[in-house]
Amino acid sequence: MSNVVIIGAGIVGTNLADELVSRGWMNITVVDQGPQHMPGGSTSHAPGLCFASNPSRTMTLFAQYTVEKLLSLEFDGRKCFNQVGGLEVATTPERLEELKRKHGFATSWGVDTRLVDADECLKLYPLLNRDLVLGGLHIPSDGLASAAATVQLLVSRTRKSGVRYLWSTRVTGIEQANDHVTGIVTKAGIIPADIVVSCAGFWGVEVGALAGLPIPLLPMAHQYVKTTAVPAQIGRNSLPDGASLPILRHQDNDLYFRELGERYGIGYYGHRPMPVAASLLSTTPSDVDERNMPSRLKFTPADFDAAWKLSQDLLPALGDADIEDGFNGVLSFTPDGFPLVGQSPALDGFYVAEAVWVTHSAGVARALAELMTIGKSQLDLSCCELSRFEQTQLTPSYVNEASQQNFREVYSIVHPFQQRNSPRNLRLGPFYLRQQQLGAVFLEASAWERPEWYEVNKTLVNKLPAEWQPRKRDAWSSRYYSPIVAAEAWKTRTAVAVYDMTSMCRLEISGPGAVDLLTRLTTSDVSGKPGSVSYTLLLDDHGGIRSDIVVIRVLDNSFQVHANGPTDLAYFSREAREQTRAAPGRFVQVRDITGSTCCLGLWGPRSQDVMAAMCIDEPPGTAGHPRLQAKHVSIGGIPTVAIRMLYVGELGWEIHASADHGLRLWDTIWQAGQPHGMIAAGQSALCSLRMEKGVRIWGVDMSTEHDPYEAGLEFAVQDDKGGYVGADALKRRPRDESARRLRCLTIDDGCSMVLGKEPVYLDGGPVGYITSAAFGHAIGRPIAFATLARRVNEGDAVKIEYFGRLIPATVAAEPLFDPQGNRLKA
Ligand code: FAD
Repeated sequence: MSNVVIIGAGIVGTNLADELVSRGWMNITVVDQGPQHMPGGSTSHAPGLCFASNPSRTMTLFAQYTVEKLLSLEFDGRKCFNQVGGLEVATTPERLEELKRKHGFATSWGVDTRLVDADECLKLYPLLNRDLVLGGLHIPSDGLASAAATVQLLVSRTRKSGVRYLWSTRVTGIEQANDHVTGIVTKAGIIPADIVVSCAGFWGVEVGALAGLPIPLLPMAHQYVKTTAVPAQIGRNSLPDGASLPILRHQDNDLYFRELGERYGIGYYGHRPMPVAASLLSTTPSDVDERNMPSRLKFTPADFDAAWKLSQDLLPALGDADIEDGFNGVLSFTPDGFPLVGQSPALDGFYVAEAVWVTHSAGVARALAELMTIGKSQLDLSCCELSRFEQTQLTPSYVNEASQQNFREVYSIVHPFQQRNSPRNLRLGPFYLRQQQLGAVFLEASAWERPEWYEVNKTLVNKLPAEWQPRKRDAWSSRYYSPIVAAEAWKTRTAVAVYDMTSMCRLEISGPGAVDLLTRLTTSDVSGKPGSVSYTLLLDDHGGIRSDIVVIRVLDNSFQVHANGPTDLAYFSREAREQTRAAPGRFVQVRDITGSTCCLGLWGPRSQDVMAAMCIDEPPGTAGHPRLQAKHVSIGGIPTVAIRMLYVGELGWEIHASADHGLRLWDTIWQAGQPHGMIAAGQSALCSLRMEKGVRIWGVDMSTEHDPYEAGLEFAVQDDKGGYVGADALKRRPRDESARRLRCLTIDDGCSMVLGKEPVYLDGGPVGYITSAAFGHAIGRPIAFATLARRVNEGDAVKIEYFGRLIPATVAAEPLFDPQGNRLKA
């Protein structure tokens, strides 16, 4: 059994020790630089409000588990969770709409919530100002965690199970050998360990640096005050920190409230961002108390002035009280607002669980314990996977700017496609200048600038046949959308379009062990001759889909893999290291070649004509170039590899070249395409076309929570192949007995859009949720993919809840477009 060291005894570290112990793990040491009675991290002063509902399903389920677990814990005769419920109030029409959306995704994730009118808000919370409140969302399962008490309880319970705690002991080094962690360094010497987990909270950057690991986290100060007794509250709660009213959020003004006996606790996110360097904070003293701890900085009253006035506006009873005590508490923000959970991409055995709120603490700890003990969390961890960031996104300047933006938006109404204004233009493909000339509207993804559509195509909208004319949309779904997308989809289906696919992650996997590695990790045979191409899956040991990839055999010992980003790179690199350690002669190298290469997709019925015009020496034609085959082709005098890929359900190719050749490749294709009516088209059209053809996106439509059968990807599993990761688990799963399945829906009225995460109802009861959505221009109606209970069948009439409105839809057979594949037979 492994020797585990956990750095940090806050709410995350102690929960992790507890989760590991409950799974039978022993030999666990928890080390904290602070003293036991109050270690001095963010947990030591956390007011403990737990609002569970979150646009992310994983975050919501983390919170649900935290509530469930804390409800089962008692410290000094008191429960560690006070389930007073939560109330989020709206004081603007926009927020009222947002609460409807929130009610939708809470329902999707199984949280019971209720939209309530202003009168009912007053019944739930009599202190509210009736003149301001327009309505609210009531969440009965929310409440208050006693975070510090939970830590004390978990320390005592895990200690009884043999966990060793070292207090007032700072970790000053991480020992490693052969890319594997071997221990930690403290003033008392080296403590050997084969697993080290950093649960160091906002000190994560410093601890990560000891292991050579950049941690994309920014510590920031956040203001919290306690009031004097509020006369209207006197006698209401018997305990000094007691509460009986729901926890309250007033997000229109960045405020939250809790009762503290007769007093109030008020938190504020509306002040200027106040980044903090943990390394410059005072070291943790041995006599930490409520007012003297490194995570509690001096209050800056001027930053709270507006908040105090706004608080009294919402709760007039506060006008009879004063601020008794305030501080600027330190907590962690990340570039995308999600926690950092998982194993280091480069140092095996070094794990991280940081930027975690009290709300999600037990859920995150359970997920990490599952990952460490059985290799898989029951929840999809893609949103908080430690390795999810591109190198560019790990630079301190990016982390600083993006995390501060997240602080500003923590209570804002954020559209699912909302873009940051800065940092931008970090990763530009070689076609960027040409795309600008065509009026490309760029959206950012993984720090790449990707054309969403091209304004130059606006003139085509008027030429669209009646059945292709774009439908009118509601204001919310019209954001980040243009009717030009319809024209780009139309040209792809009727002529030819060129798509920039450069941002797709490309890995080179090479060496004498490359075939072994890919054979062991994928669901299909990837050992064909050089030039062969396979769409295949990476599974985990339990049969869940870790990723979907395309594998191209370039040479006997060299492959190009089209993957889903840095998490796949980390996985392949880790597996390659392990294989190389076990069999040095079968070594494998994994290299990210995305930035040094580029890729264009050329699709449409006339793509062959364009290809023929370009490849004068050796027109590949479709006859001499079978599907899923890669061929070396010279285009405009530059070497390229053309792969017959059918992503959008039209004839065509992905054309790959080195980045230095990119501009010439674009110009050559552009020139050759003009006589055939070719246009440049963007990601929005691509999304519409792929949904018409039933193509899934990993991380959106499927994840480790789904097996290939549930995702409708059984075709990617080769029946006669065994021995790969996940094969045994998959064999044990009967194909037709999974509880749910990814389904395709079409919207009955032909125009109402949904965007994803909305709940789906059958006969009035919830049966699942939407994963992705787009308007299907070729089929003339919106399409949505949904994870639905198995009992929902093709042809069933369902309803989708969108901002409180029920939209009728039908479960459809897939694919919606060209089901016989006739267009691909040419
Ligand atoms: P911490 O509690 O900070 O624990 C990390 C531990 O690591 C510390 O004890 C530290 O001493 C130790 N450590 C660090 N470096 C080393 C080292 N080198 N060697 C040894 N030990 C080390 N969250 C909510 O869910 N609801 C709320 O209402 C809420 N309100 C908040 C209000 C304020 C004012 C603040 C500041 C935060 C609030 N949070 C809230 C956030 C929440 O408090 C934190 O996210 C959470 O407590 C973090 O827990 P943790 O265990 O990760 O970190």
